[in-house]
Amino acid sequence: VSTREHTLLRRLRDERPRRVVFLAHCILDESTRYLGGACARGCVAPILEQCMRERVGIIQMPCPEARAWGGVLKKRLLAIYGASRSHPGAWAAARAALPLWLRYTRLRYRHLAKQVAAEMADYAAAGFEIVGVVGIDGSPSCGVGVTLDPRCVDALAAIDVDRVTLPQHDRIVRSHAVAGEGIFVEELKRELRRRGLSVPFRGHDLFAELDGASAPIRW
Ligand code: SF4
Repeated sequence: VSTREHTLLRRLRDERPRRVVFLAHCILDESTRYLGGACARGCVAPILEQCMRERVGIIQMPCPEARAWGGVLKKRLLAIYGASRSHPGAWAAARAALPLWLRYTRLRYRHLAKQVAAEMADYAAAGFEIVGVVGIDGSPSCGVGVTLDPRCVDALAAIDVDRVTLPQHDRIVRSHAVAGEGIFVEELKRELRRRGLSVPFRGHDLFAELDGASAPIRW
């Protein structure tokens, strides 16, 4: 911040927050969650209320899966459901190409991560404190401490689309949760390191939320 900007900031001091948080998209808009993964009827109110209480400005990050996998409903992901039952031959070929799919995903996420990191750098350069990034534990993209084993696609491909139930789908997702970071979080951390920015990451526990037991975020 230049001396002139500093003077203007001081003279025209207002109520803007000096602290901001970057939230995973679906904390403010659960429309982008995988089918069966949205339970808050809108946004995750406890986190929103916490930010309001603590007077922290909120920045919504893009949903990487919606951007890379075909929009809000992630149509490319839905195409996998039941595929090994309905089109076993085509599924075998698609399954063999999974490493390519993951590579494509990572490249798309890298591009997004660069944009988010640039926004963070702007806030930091303007003198704002970035209190943290809140990802979604249990997500293969936004997980901070818990991610999803990519082999989950095999169970999804074996689903009977006409008979699948929420509990059955929930069991599939939870049984593939593993310790680790999601691909978008990996790429964002990498970009922040490249820029020399240090920002704490926290995970909102998706499965606790589905169980009605969301805990506050500790910065
Ligand atoms: S966890 Fe990340 S990828 Fe999944 S819906 Fe939320 S913002 Fe999108």
